Amino acid sequence: MDIVLLGSTGSIGTQTLDVCRMHNIRVKALSANSNIELLEKQTREFLPEYISVSDENYYKDIKTRIADLNVKILCKEESVCELASLQCDRVVNSVVGFAGLLPTLAAFKAKNSVALANKETLVAGGELVMKALEENCVNLLLIDSEHSAIFQCLLGAGENKLSKIILTASGGPFYGKIGEELKNVTLAQALNHPNWKMGAKITVDSATMMNKGLELIEAVHYFKIKPEQVEIVIHRQSIMHSAVEFEDGAIIAQLGTADMRIPIQFALTYPKRLECPAKRLSLTEAGKLTFETPDEDTFICLKAARKAIKMGGNAPCIVNCANEAAVSLFLSDKISFLDIGEAVNSALCDIKFIKNPSVDEILDTKKIAEEYVFSRFKQGEI
Ligand code: MG
Repeated sequence: MDIVLLGSTGSIGTQTLDVCRMHNIRVKALSANSNIELLEKQTREFLPEYISVSDENYYKDIKTRIADLNVKILCKEESVCELASLQCDRVVNSVVGFAGLLPTLAAFKAKNSVALANKETLVAGGELVMKALEENCVNLLLIDSEHSAIFQCLLGAGENKLSKIILTASGGPFYGKIGEELKNVTLAQALNHPNWKMGAKITVDSATMMNKGLELIEAVHYFKIKPEQVEIVIHRQSIMHSAVEFEDGAIIAQLGTADMRIPIQFALTYPKRLECPAKRLSLTEAGKLTFETPDEDTFICLKAARKAIKMGGNAPCIVNCANEAAVSLFLSDKISFLDIGEAVNSALCDIKFIKNPSVDEILDTKKIAEEYVFSRFKQGEI
């Protein structure tokens, strides 16, 4: 099989290449927005036909570095979409943030199946994306560990209806803290996730619990279930990756170690299960598994995401993009941790709601939400 890998130098990208190495999966194209040195290493090892980089300086740099190789280098805004349209068995989309939406749509249009690690695709473009998926009769497999778990729990379920999804959350580094205690937490503390090693944006999202909010929205679209049928449960050990409950009350769960190579590999090789380099789970070593209700009064991003998916339309896009802008400010130490939740909630209240947004209206909403957060920052309101 062959894949196109978008976002190859990030956490999911490098782990996807681990899986490719192990199972001799051919890599037809790579794209990256950072870490040109690593991109060069990956290009030399996997010898893709194409690579794409995000800016002119990266382009010049990589061109010199791999002058001895026969690789086409692209560097335009639409290059990632061009790569997503190349004929292949799977497009692995691990682009960070809203930028992942258009490549997913481009892949569908080219009749490519997608293994999706970019949750913003379904969060911001939910209805549009699911419609494009159905129209093009391709497969969409989610790499997110929770959604992969739910998908696996549903294999063999046939026509049997779900009564609910149990979406597990680690609770992140600030689990158990309330209001005031979060006032002075630092960026370094937010980036210190107890169980998972991930990129900076998603690690901050885990600390605010926005990540679980985005996953809730993703699950509602992908599994075609009502928001109130998704129960979010804090499970500190990150061993049960999620579960489903059927109408008879039976709960089926998927368990494993916290290693993203398991869901990545499954999204690439589905319906086959192949050997995986991840450590095996020992239940006796794990000992205790605990489950608790999340504190939505403290982690208000989660509350905003729940409100947004109930509203529908462009509301999930508003919370997603306001969050993206606020997290970028937090990552450059310009706003405080609690400002993120404040920015997301006020954006949802203040920005114009559109019930059935087009792709252009989604793109506009993104700009408006970003400008809203950046201007509140400039005016000293956050
Ligand atoms: Mg997840």
